[in-house]
Amino acid sequence: MNALPPRPILEVDDLSRHFVTKDFFGREQHRVRAVDNVSFTVAAGETLGLVGESGSGKSTTGRLVLRLDDPTAGQIRFEGQEITGLRKQSLRAMRTRMQVVFQDPFSSLNPRMRVGDAVGEPLRAHRLTKSRAEERDRVAELFQRVGLDPRFAERFPHQFSGGQRQRIGIARAIAVRPQLIVADEPITALDVSIQAQIVNLFMDLQEEMGVAYLFIAHDLAMVRHLCHRVAVMLRGRIVEMAPTEQLFADARHPYTQALISAMPIPDPDRELLRQRIFFDGKLPPPDAALEQVTPGHWVLAA
Ligand code: ADP
Ligand code: MG
Repeated sequence: MNALPPRPILEVDDLSRHFVTKDFFGREQHRVRAVDNVSFTVAAGETLGLVGESGSGKSTTGRLVLRLDDPTAGQIRFEGQEITGLRKQSLRAMRTRMQVVFQDPFSSLNPRMRVGDAVGEPLRAHRLTKSRAEERDRVAELFQRVGLDPRFAERFPHQFSGGQRQRIGIARAIAVRPQLIVADEPITALDVSIQAQIVNLFMDLQEEMGVAYLFIAHDLAMVRHLCHRVAVMLRGRIVEMAPTEQLFADARHPYTQALISAMPIPDPDRELLRQRIFFDGKLPPPDAALEQVTPGHWVLAA
């Protein structure tokens, strides 16, 4: 007997978030369609990459999924449950299943709190440890897991490098053993030499814990390495979505083609001959819909 395919843990349907500015009389002045009719899913243990230039709506999408912001329209289901209308109490329960890692780990860490306490905080908040001693043990384990000396738990955030702080941010996110982590450009602010280490840490943790990622990123080379599927955003819309290798081999949307052609090539001779494709700036018509060109490969009709 065939098992049913696993249901995605995250299902986003026709999600929109518009920011409206009003004039003195309360009339709508200006509307930014930060996220505009976006649909995608993330399966358990999967990494979906969300890429696109700055301002394309990636962070807003992440914030909506995390319920840090309310959508203008659309639905988000997490583990089969509609979370768009959830009240505080149920949101609390959801927060142990879904976590976030931000771009700048320093701004998300309290500068006056020892980092061990910061990593232990979600354990205390959700009463996942029974005593301070148990919490300390668990925090030490988490430090080890992300490649930090457990003795560092006594230190403060400013005593760490950017890469170490991001490891602390990741330890804090995995403390509650979430099913999904929304990672918003978690390596963008790090030295290039450190980025690959952090990406590898994300991959190791996924293999070990089966956690899924919604991975918001800039660097396509990292995305190619890390993500099972990629969704490309342009001005609040997904213009193309495909399994990673399919996207790199056969990009169909002009914007995706431009992004890929702008990737640096490690070989200097080939880099010189690289053909850049420039995006013509033509935005998809408002009523354009995603069409499936091959299984799992979706392109917004031009
Ligand atoms: P990205 O993460 O891809 O750089 P964002 O999701 O941060 O993009 O922003 C998408 C668009 O929404 C941008 O035009 C941005 O200026 C706008 N935006 C984001 N947050 C707000 C807000 N709180 N108020 C008004 N406009 C916003
Ligand atoms: Mg952003």
